[in-house]
Amino acid sequence: MIKLSQTSKMPCKSWSLQALTHCNRGQKLACQENAICHSCYASKNRYLFKPIKDARQAQYDHWIWTKDLDWIDEMTAIIDKTAKTDKFGNRYFRWFDSGDLQSVSMLQEIVTIARNLPDIKFWLPTRETGILQEYFDGTRTAPINLLIRVSMDFIDETIARYKTVIHDEWTDHVTFSTVTTEPDRHQCIQSDKIIKVKGKEVTIKVCGDCRRCWDRKNEITSYALH
Ligand code: SF4
Repeated sequence: MIKLSQTSKMPCKSWSLQALTHCNRGQKLACQENAICHSCYASKNRYLFKPIKDARQAQYDHWIWTKDLDWIDEMTAIIDKTAKTDKFGNRYFRWFDSGDLQSVSMLQEIVTIARNLPDIKFWLPTRETGILQEYFDGTRTAPINLLIRVSMDFIDETIARYKTVIHDEWTDHVTFSTVTTEPDRHQCIQSDKIIKVKGKEVTIKVCGDCRRCWDRKNEITSYALH
């Protein structure tokens, strides 16, 4: 059964896999000290709790067993049912608050879901440039409501290396994100929100009204290094 997740900072639901087992490029990069994946939030803390790991593994298993049309139909229905309309009249969804694309066929399924729900804005962060390459080189396209954002591999990396590997077919579909140590390049300015956890007030960071990650005009989103 499909279960969507809701991270506290995001304005929408997401669908996730386990980073430790289903970030294929990310786990290879994680052993390099300057790689963004080296200090991945989704490979530590609460993400290592058994119920959270089990829940994400169950999503992978469900995708394997029901993929293709059944998974697409089920996913389309649950996203449509749970996506709320924000105060600007838009609905959003995020793929992978942990985990990443598994195959070209998974990307094709995600594209079909976005086509099924044209009024929802989808953000797909990924490091799987090989899958994107195979997909777009096969002259397949993505709809305007699916924003694919390639996460750069290394802290303070610039876009230059990616410009050399990106083919023209991609450019209408793909944007980027990076992690920077330079304060004047930070673009992700999340606001504070106070919530109650077990009766105690806790301050968390939230996106608030920002939708930069879904915005096609924003070619690169720069996050601060935490
Ligand atoms: S850039 Fe905006 S939408 Fe993206 S994570 Fe930061 S606050 Fe959220």
